[in-house]
Amino acid sequence: MAELISGKIVSEKLRSELRDEIAEFKLQCGRCPGLAVIVVGSDPASKVYVRNKHKACLDVGIESYQIEYPDGISEEELLLKIDELNADTKINGILVQLPLPNNISEKKVIERISPDKDVDAFHPANVGRITIGNYSFLPCTPSGIISLLDYYGVQISGKNCAVIGRSNIVGKPMALLLTERNGTVTLCHSKTQKLKEITLNSDIIVVAIGKAEFLTADMVKPGAVVIDVGINRNDEGKLVGDVKFDEVSQVASMITPVPGGVGPMTITTLLKNTLLAAKIQNK
Ligand code: NAD
Repeated sequence: MAELISGKIVSEKLRSELRDEIAEFKLQCGRCPGLAVIVVGSDPASKVYVRNKHKACLDVGIESYQIEYPDGISEEELLLKIDELNADTKINGILVQLPLPNNISEKKVIERISPDKDVDAFHPANVGRITIGNYSFLPCTPSGIISLLDYYGVQISGKNCAVIGRSNIVGKPMALLLTERNGTVTLCHSKTQKLKEITLNSDIIVVAIGKAEFLTADMVKPGAVVIDVGINRNDEGKLVGDVKFDEVSQVASMITPVPGGVGPMTITTLLKNTLLAAKIQNK
């Protein structure tokens, strides 16, 4: 049976360190780091994510500013709000919860956020910096996964790594970060052929595709480390990942559960990035 990689445990440890660092920052600067989170529309999942981010900020001592807009808001109004937040010295990090309604261009919104306050690391300037290994912020989910692998002593250097899913927020940056750690990475996606051959040859498998229980035991090399990013509901309405946990955990050496694996690390890394942004802006 695989050892559980617990995002809850690692996240709690990192948050306790963050509480101390933020208290120290407050002593030195006379104020808390500030994070503005903008949510547009009434998507229930987005509301839950934003509420969780707000609670996490309170938990470590970050001032959280929640800005809510109805579905009908214009792109221009949102962009002007971002300009205002870019100029506001109380705000160190800005995050716009995605997806946005169809009348608003995500590309324009992401590019309007000042790269110095882009704690999601989605701005093209930050993405470029990550590509060349000269960055301040790392995107929250892949960076959280690297923290998990480090905490559990998983060696990346020299290992074959399969990343399944090539989104801009998870798959692509995950492949870059594993490459930076000297992993030999295969980035797989919906058009990949012979996926099973690739995964069976991989020591570390990261799955981020949004397909319930997609990765099955017959696709996993015995002893591999399996990281499940997916968040899905199965036919019975239960929250499950992209990995068929019950059977893959019989083959893998280590595995993340859903929930309690990658999810908590994503939010904790956002908190870490906000403190880092505050420190850089106060230099
Ligand atoms: P996405 O939904 O934007 O894209 C899906 C990707 O999966 C695409 O690159 C596609 O090519 C690939 N894909 C789809 N079917 C495939 C198949 N059969 N074989 C191989 N590749 C296939 O991706 P995303 O935004 O990274 O989200 C992926 C999942 O991760 C979702 O369930 C999402 O909710 C979850 N997620 C979780 C967290 C977290 O903190 N736990 C963070 C971000 C995303």
